[in-house]
Amino acid sequence: MRILVQKFGGTSLSTPEARAHVIEHIRDALAADYRLVVVVSAMGRKGDPYATDTLLGLIEQVEGRLPAREKDMLLCCGEVISAAVLCSMLHARSISAVVLSGAQAGIVTNERFGNAHIQSIRPERIFKLLKDNRVVIVTGFQGINEFGDWTTLGRGGSDTSATALGAALRAEYVDIYTDVEGVLTADPRIVEDAKPLASVGYAEICNMAYQGAKVIHPRAVEVAMQANIPIRVRSTFSRHPGTLVSHSDAISGGFVSDRHVTGIAHAPHVTQIRVNSREAAGFGSETRPINHGNTFDLQLKVFKAMALNDISVDFINVNPSEIIYTVFDNDADRAVSILRDMGLELEYLNNCAKVSVIGGGMNGVPGIMAQIVEALTENDVQILQSADSNASIWVLVKYEDMVKSVRALHRAFQLNK
Ligand code: ADP
Ligand code: MG
Repeated sequence: MRILVQKFGGTSLSTPEARAHVIEHIRDALAADYRLVVVVSAMGRKGDPYATDTLLGLIEQVEGRLPAREKDMLLCCGEVISAAVLCSMLHARSISAVVLSGAQAGIVTNERFGNAHIQSIRPERIFKLLKDNRVVIVTGFQGINEFGDWTTLGRGGSDTSATALGAALRAEYVDIYTDVEGVLTADPRIVEDAKPLASVGYAEICNMAYQGAKVIHPRAVEVAMQANIPIRVRSTFSRHPGTLVSHSDAISGGFVSDRHVTGIAHAPHVTQIRVNSREAAGFGSETRPINHGNTFDLQLKVFKAMALNDISVDFINVNPSEIIYTVFDNDADRAVSILRDMGLELEYLNNCAKVSVIGGGMNGVPGIMAQIVEALTENDVQILQSADSNASIWVLVKYEDMVKSVRALHRAFQLNK
């Protein structure tokens, strides 16, 4: 059996016209002799009747009072509705399809309601249905824990449902259908002339996704990478071939390692925190470091305190006089008061954004940082912090400079060419 998994996102299912495009892709796959598993998200975006955010809106006033377990039961409804609607459209066209919930599809998760991780998949039932030539529609974003409770996988979770099913079924491809023509060099909502990439490595796209390119969920990429299942990110609304995501180092026109910069990603809503690690008050003062030169003790204390309070930290820079890091804006007040309660001196800046320049082949290439600094300073953007890894360079800027920065960097690296 040649198995294909197709996943359709919210906007791809939001209107009858959009769903007609979905049907076309299903027909194409069946005509190509694939046995087909279709993973669906809830229909539409916030404000649409059965979208996940709309369901959440039903309990907005009292959200804190609905236990996480029952909240997941509410959230599971969106995908059930869209799966049943799609199933009816297929039957109307004499395509035999069957809907399976996450539980019925054998998707077993841990117990973490609202952000559950898939632990295993029991694919027997799907295999049997595929053998019988049925199209199997699976509700994305959900599973079941060992006690039989419904769980959801967190934002973007349907992508992970799709790649996990692809891995369990040894699918030939997992196709992620969305509202753009693949993975682009930047978010097209910000950069008008962003270009679709014909192919990218798993690591590159994973990196982009972790840095805010929400076209695919990073966990979904990790699952596919581990199982070595290629992903194609494609548009529901066209027949554009989209972006192939695979292990292969070979990309169209060269190698991943020849492409210094692949794309620009951005992640808004972060707060920069700077903890003074010098003994005397005042940043940048020339006094002795606290703890007799051991900033590690302080680091440990700071990051342990964040972890104990479930505050995730990012973009960490440590130097002899300061510990600098970022937290999400909505954790900032808590983080600051925890640090103050510890008697630490600190400064913080809300409303920042992390802008990342990503390229599988940038390692060891001189001059990229210089180009970034030049592009940003030419556009009057102040760089608040920067750091790099082998495949990306990150800069922290003020939120108001984010769009300008992404555009400037996209231009500077000629990614529209
Ligand atoms: P879906 O509902 O289909 O899962 P998402 O909204 O989760 O769709 O993801 C698609 C969106 O991701 C696009 O509309 C686009 O605005 C955004 N996006 C951000 N960065 C990128 C990128 N580098 N390439 C493509 N899309 C991107
Ligand atoms: Mg998505």
